[in-house]
Amino acid sequence: MSYSRSPRNARKSGGGRPPRFEDNEDTIALLESVGPVVLPPEIESFDELDLSPVMRLAIAKAGFTKPSPIQAALIPYALAGTDVIGQARTGTGKTAAFSIPILEQLDSLEECRDPQAIIVVPTRELADQVAGEAARLAYGVPTEIAILSGGKNMNRQLRQLENGVQVVVGTPGRIHDHLQRGTLRLDKTWCVVLDEADRMLDIGFRPQIERIMRKCPRNRQTLLLSATLPPVVRRLAESYMSEPVVIDCCRNEMAVDTIEQRYFTVANDRKVELLEQLLEREDPEQAIIFCRTKRGTDRLHRQLSRTYHGACGCIHGDLQQRERDRVLQSLRDRKLKLLIATDVVGRGIDITTISHIVNFDVPQDCDDYVHRVGRTGRMGRDGVAYTFVVPGEGEVLTSIEQRINKELVRDSIEGFDPVPEVTAAAEAASAAEEEAPTEARRSLNPMTRKKKRRR
Ligand code: ADP
Ligand code: MG
Repeated sequence: MSYSRSPRNARKSGGGRPPRFEDNEDTIALLESVGPVVLPPEIESFDELDLSPVMRLAIAKAGFTKPSPIQAALIPYALAGTDVIGQARTGTGKTAAFSIPILEQLDSLEECRDPQAIIVVPTRELADQVAGEAARLAYGVPTEIAILSGGKNMNRQLRQLENGVQVVVGTPGRIHDHLQRGTLRLDKTWCVVLDEADRMLDIGFRPQIERIMRKCPRNRQTLLLSATLPPVVRRLAESYMSEPVVIDCCRNEMAVDTIEQRYFTVANDRKVELLEQLLEREDPEQAIIFCRTKRGTDRLHRQLSRTYHGACGCIHGDLQQRERDRVLQSLRDRKLKLLIATDVVGRGIDITTISHIVNFDVPQDCDDYVHRVGRTGRMGRDGVAYTFVVPGEGEVLTSIEQRINKELVRDSIEGFDPVPEVTAAAEAASAAEEEAPTEARRSLNPMTRKKKRRR
């Protein structure tokens, strides 16, 4: 090994907690029931974190200068061996937040041939992405990282495991398969990461996750990252984590703040036409268009391919893994201008060149909205998101606005008159709205705003 990191013994010696960041007076009781809630500290540079020289070099090579809030908060706790629940929206650097402390503490492959850390993620694409980011941050220190996800060559995975790995990144299903076959041993694992825990539970991976957790040593460290902390996630944390600290990076920023968010009202049968005109008007660098169903995704892909031919791709859960990988790679290589996707696959995908998001179908819940819109404007870049709202979906729009605490700006395109309002109240609200400049971004005052403003 060419370099070795400064020895870090906190984990082995039992560590203890780092100095507590200012605890917030105004904590949410719900979160406090899981553990003490801390807010991210103000940190200007990675130098303020206790990291080895080689790690600082790797971070500089990755082009990071200032730690994101979740990184500033999570890294010291993770290095001290504390269990952490980190709530932060998408695109805020959670991957590096848990990868850096793991990489800092790894024993070399000569010292330990079984996985020391296991990172569980909801999708194959995320597994690739997380492993890629971890490999980038492992710069300067040889590190064996294995990807155990479905749709990938099993023999290669078996060979890798036999040769020894330090970090496993994988999906719950495939990791569980390996445990069943006895090809993966977790008795040397000192850190388990559950990334996008809310989504993994949504998909129905709870049994696999629980079995994986039970196979790990009891005194391991568990880091759970999630954009939201619904009761199912809190229950999982209560059962499998030990005195976790809750890092709340969502307290003051429920919104996907830097992203311009607009909506169109449109009749159901004119959505495709509207989309075509919007794409013409915007000429996006790269756009992701979200649909609700796999069939809808395929259909829209066929329709847009007439105009965009090869520059238009489509991704959903029914496609073969090789096809999904190929499509995402073409998007990264900028061969694709448009990607049509369903929520499950779109979630967590990190491609910084996405300039536009279109919610061709409104998302099923507000969290999906935040996740979709979070695909653009990553790490403070500008992005814009459009949501198509058909008659009858006004309430979905309202609940999205409440969730992000911001009103979406109504947009229009010539020839697409706003769909007639249905209720008198909605009509009045809409008239009032049209008087206001469309560009204005008003912050929402929940006391004064009308609930069902439009449909
Ligand atoms: P999340 O998991 O929270 O959705 P990611 O870990 O995928 O976010 O990070 C989003 C993007 O931000 C990635 O391209 C990552 O390389 C980049 N990134 C992470 N941390 C930093 C940082 N401190 N400074 C600049 N870019 C960062
Ligand atoms: Mg992530």
